[in-house]
Amino acid sequence: MPNFCLYPVFIESSRSLSYTYPMRILVVEDEPKLNAGLVTGLQHRGYAVDFAFDGEEGEKMARLNDYDLIVLDIMLPKRDGVEVCRDLRHAGKSTPIIFLTAKDTVDNRITGLDSGADDYLVKPFSFDELAARIRTLLRRPAIQFSDALELDGLRLDTRTQRLTVEGHEINLTAREFGLLEYLLRNRGKVATHQDIIDHVWDQFYDSFSNVVNVHIKNLRKKLPKKYARRIETVWGKGYRLA
Ligand code: CA
Repeated sequence: MPNFCLYPVFIESSRSLSYTYPMRILVVEDEPKLNAGLVTGLQHRGYAVDFAFDGEEGEKMARLNDYDLIVLDIMLPKRDGVEVCRDLRHAGKSTPIIFLTAKDTVDNRITGLDSGADDYLVKPFSFDELAARIRTLLRRPAIQFSDALELDGLRLDTRTQRLTVEGHEINLTAREFGLLEYLLRNRGKVATHQDIIDHVWDQFYDSFSNVVNVHIKNLRKKLPKKYARRIETVWGKGYRLA
């Protein structure tokens, strides 16, 4: 897949940094206010965000789901962040991890990085600082990327968040954009419902709902027929962009 990137592109705008490739982050933090603040802040930047309030739950979720990054507090009920990180690394999970540490536990910094974390932030920290660290970690694998994904006359610009088809702009919702982007980046391959859910939705997705089908249907409706037809249904599996 030449010219395609597997890693995100960020847009510098006057208001904030926004992120355009669907990615899923897990936040493990036991302070309810901080947890909620982190989740909301990251969602505003376009990430799909899951959260947990203790180490046990966090580890379970991290083992179960394919996160792109984990924000992990060190002082947590049930299991502390260092243990969680160590166990995840032993289990072969290489998901980037950013530790959150309290001011007076400087030793944790070393312990933390020894346990396999990629970075840490000392509380209190600014959200912008966290966002910058996340951006750095997600960008780290220097795989080639382009701002625009093209398919014949269809052009999805991840920098401006615009879709044009043969020169005409088509308005998409954020989810539709994410969905089409995911299909374009994986064109020719079957994207299962689970793949799509993992990368475009968050934990509030109701697994019994047909939200993916509905979005696929809407996307097909918005596209001219010859492009809509290329979003193939692979029965019992998912979808494929031909
Ligand atoms: Ca804590």
